[in-house]
Amino acid sequence: MAVPARQAARLGWYLFSNKVRRRAKFPLIVELEPLFACTLRCEGCGKIQQPYEILRQRMPVAQAVGAIEECGAPMVSIAGGEPLMHPQIDQIVAELVKRKKYIYLCTNAELVVSWWDRFDFKPSPYLSFAVHLDGLRERHDASVNKEGVFDTAIAGIKFLKEKGFRVTTNSTFFNTDTPKTVIEVLNFLNDEVGVDDMMISPAYAYEKAPDQEHFLGVRETRELFRAAFADGNRKRWRLNHSPLFLDFLEGKVDFECTAWGIPSYSLLGWQQPCYLLADGYAPTYRELIEKTDWDAYGRGKDPRCANCMAHCGYEPTAVAATMRSLKQMLRAGREQG
Ligand code: SF4
Ligand code: SF4
Repeated sequence: MAVPARQAARLGWYLFSNKVRRRAKFPLIVELEPLFACTLRCEGCGKIQQPYEILRQRMPVAQAVGAIEECGAPMVSIAGGEPLMHPQIDQIVAELVKRKKYIYLCTNAELVVSWWDRFDFKPSPYLSFAVHLDGLRERHDASVNKEGVFDTAIAGIKFLKEKGFRVTTNSTFFNTDTPKTVIEVLNFLNDEVGVDDMMISPAYAYEKAPDQEHFLGVRETRELFRAAFADGNRKRWRLNHSPLFLDFLEGKVDFECTAWGIPSYSLLGWQQPCYLLADGYAPTYRELIEKTDWDAYGRGKDPRCANCMAHCGYEPTAVAATMRSLKQMLRAGREQG
């Protein structure tokens, strides 16, 4: 894969400098949600259930930038909701790029082409679009509850590539997926569409999601990814994850949750303890770290964490484990270079 060399070097330096400073808890990437409104109503979504008063709000540019500056994370994933419904989203991106933050602008791509002229996005090594695609045409359209979204998303990816942007994808898999459906969509994105890299996630059962039946358990997740990654697929696909996180998805290693590494900041504040649960909100990252009882969360501790293998809880643990081992660092350099 996948992560450009400059970004990997910057991340390596950031991790090293935090180690030298003996900073035990720090963010790798922030999930920034500057709005909750969206053009779609996916069954598995835990965001669009917010009350109307919150759905109509848009985070001011200065507030978004201030939160990222306060926590110091080198990477920001801007999600929502649908970020392109925020009228100043291009300004938020430009301000963060100016501060040399690596941005993943997550979108369902419905508005990419039709609203393009409302924005002033410029290609940059710091900016990647991350398009949400859960499967091939039939599966994706069923997942987002609307026909035609798959075709719009593919057109959006091609449009962005033609304009010179880096384009990645983000795919969530449910218990209705099989190794075949995972392989089909990742082969298509990797080989035919030619996206720059891909992120994958087992679906998490948000308490607020209307569909509570189709989320994967730990055993199912491991079986699904082990089978999908076989026959050299894992090596061939440009996956934007650390090798140890992919080992974790396959069940080759197990980790503790370290959700402070990928925190979520929204209109409501810093979400405690993670993007997936909402036990409270802190006004600053510092207070999130100091006032959250981190030992109370993770598999075997909180029943809501029992089936979670999400990137926001476990990728930071995988990255920290990589940094503790020369062998794993060399492997990450080889496999991610
Ligand atoms: S596209 Fe994303 S934010 Fe919008 S409804 Fe679907 S899951 Fe929720
Ligand atoms: S295991 Fe970690 S990331 Fe997953 S729901 Fe629990 S606290 Fe959040």
